[in-house]
Amino acid sequence: MTDRKTELAANLAKVEERITAACVAAGRAREEVTLIVVTKTYPASDVRILSDLGVRHVAENRDQDAAPKAAACADLPLKWHFVGQLQTNKVRSVVGYADVVQSVDRSRLVTALSKEAVRAEREVGCLIQVAFDAGASGRGDRGGVAPEGIEELADLVARAPGLRLDGLMTVAPLTGEYAGREQAAFERLVVLSTDLRRAHPTATMVSAGMSADLEQAVAAGATHVRVGTAVLGVRPRLG
Ligand SMILES: *Cc1c(COP(=O)(O)O)cnc(C)c1O
Repeated sequence: MTDRKTELAANLAKVEERITAACVAAGRAREEVTLIVVTKTYPASDVRILSDLGVRHVAENRDQDAAPKAAACADLPLKWHFVGQLQTNKVRSVVGYADVVQSVDRSRLVTALSKEAVRAEREVGCLIQVAFDAGASGRGDRGGVAPEGIEELADLVARAPGLRLDGLMTVAPLTGEYAGREQAAFERLVVLSTDLRRAHPTATMVSAGMSADLEQAVAAGATHVRVGTAVLGVRPRLG
């Protein structure tokens, strides 16, 4: 193995151990939690190694980086998740490779995603990104819609041609009542997911937890954790 492959294999094994231990502690089956590796800022060569090592879900947050990477890895059996704030002028590009957009947080974005999904003859999974730090605007600093806005957006996605409502996503808030209380925030997301599934029974994904708080996410009931740093290393630049 190359040095990088050895390093990524060791990191993946550690993350796998953490997820397994968190599942055991929570009385959950390991299969209930899917690992998504966030490959932002890292090269396509790392994505290829991760695929060789058995990773099946990767995530990116910037279309400029993600589009060429996804093209370079088009031969690999990967599902691509888009997890960044998404401008409508990038939607056409993102729909070209993303299987799931986890950052759906406004109706204009739903309209744009639907239009491009239909045009590309693709079905795009959508998660409503929930912001627990949303101020009076109803939007979070790092994207997301306040809990009160979920229902309307979810109904819009569910009715939109080319889109599939898959569930909810959140990033632990840095401010507001849930600052520093990751597990409480994730537990609230799971309650919101239960509410959502009354009207949308197939919207079962609950995406929460990153390198620093994946245990809290698993304990709260997340179905998907998004892990970057713990697998790939500290990012060389902000992203
Ligand atoms: C970067 C990122 C992650 C991964 O964060 P790490 O701390 O590197 O594990 C997860 N989710 C989103 C939305 C991100 O932007």
